[in-house]
Amino acid sequence: MATNRTFTMIKPDAFEAGNSGAILKMIEEAGFKIVAMKATQLTSELAGKFYAVHAERPFYADLCAYMSSGPIIAAILEKDNAVEDFRKLIGATNPADAAEGTIRKIFAKSIEANAVHGSDSDENAAIEGAFYFSEFERVG
Ligand code: GDP
Repeated sequence: MATNRTFTMIKPDAFEAGNSGAILKMIEEAGFKIVAMKATQLTSELAGKFYAVHAERPFYADLCAYMSSGPIIAAILEKDNAVEDFRKLIGATNPADAAEGTIRKIFAKSIEANAVHGSDSDENAAIEGAFYFSEFERVG
């Protein structure tokens, strides 16, 4: 069944470059409603917890260092078929492979500093949203 919520982060490279507003504009214009949002900065330890699924990957230490290197924006988004539609909007992990017009194609700097995160399943969207936001910090 199609979900109606997903979770995103505007990553340190995009935040630092001043692209948060342009990215949020693309997200809203694609029909996503913001249910919760905050600017924050991860510690390396928290980044490690968020990406624990990648703990065995060779890029894990770099990823944790990068994700804690500066501020991010975390948000829960709502739309019919949210997880799948948002993955289409952001494009492939590696911007070199991302389709024209996708957020990563436009804003990502590299396969690691790839501008945005998007949950890959309904289950992970719920887990990742709960990582950042309690129930009373969400609209509706
Ligand atoms: P996503 O679901 O498209 O974000 O991709 P993954 O879940 O596979 O990877 C999580 C994040 O790790 C990516 O968004 C990148 O920031 C980073 N990453 C993925 N693959 C690589 C890689 O090969 N090298 C490096 N340095 N970072 C990577």
